[in-house]
Amino acid sequence: MITTLTIALSKGRIFQETLPLLAAAGIEPVDDPETSRKLILDTNQPEVKLVIIRATDTPIYVQYGAADLGVAGKDVLLEHGGEGLYEPLDLRIARCRLMVAGDPHHQPRLSRPRIATKYVNTTRRWFADQGRQVEIIKLYGSMELAPLVGLADFIVDVVDTGNTLRANGLAPLEHIADISSRLIVNKAAMKMKHVRIKAIMARMAAAVGTQ
Ligand code: AMP
Repeated sequence: MITTLTIALSKGRIFQETLPLLAAAGIEPVDDPETSRKLILDTNQPEVKLVIIRATDTPIYVQYGAADLGVAGKDVLLEHGGEGLYEPLDLRIARCRLMVAGDPHHQPRLSRPRIATKYVNTTRRWFADQGRQVEIIKLYGSMELAPLVGLADFIVDVVDTGNTLRANGLAPLEHIADISSRLIVNKAAMKMKHVRIKAIMARMAAAVGTQ
């Protein structure tokens, strides 16, 4: 009997931009997660399922083997730390930059500037590596609001066009990392389901080059 292969994806941009790469590997979902309420989607291959979860949960499902494969942004992987995962393929989708941003004319607190972010671990590392003392405030969304209402001096967030920053009088100030989505693989699954996973990886890698 052939065991199920489970692939974790988040809704929205990652799902949409991963679809053509999965199709290149012969995998096509039967349901559309934007309209279906199902959390486990069947595909054209009876032994391949897709689980639809929040972007920040993808590395956790793959780390614990609840999914064999997943697609996660490098921003999410930096924050997670990558334990229990292989990250064999840069899919070159959902590209953006992780930046420190703020009001370029604002005078920050002199002792410990406050940084609002959902990327607490990455932000701590970025400032600690430079010996800069900061206070980190964890937020779950709308980071751009924090400097406008005096909650924080700076934010750390992903930036694509920069339109959201500009619309709020903010600007990108320091570049932390280039971000794109990566294929991630559970370490045990890579051994146990090696042949199937290698075949999917090879076909996705070939499709990445042609996008
Ligand atoms: P921007 O194009 O810079 O105005 O981006 C708009 C918002 O979308 C930003 O505040 C980000 O939080 C979010 N965003 C942009 N690109 C990505 C991405 N690749 N992954 C996740 N969030 C993103």
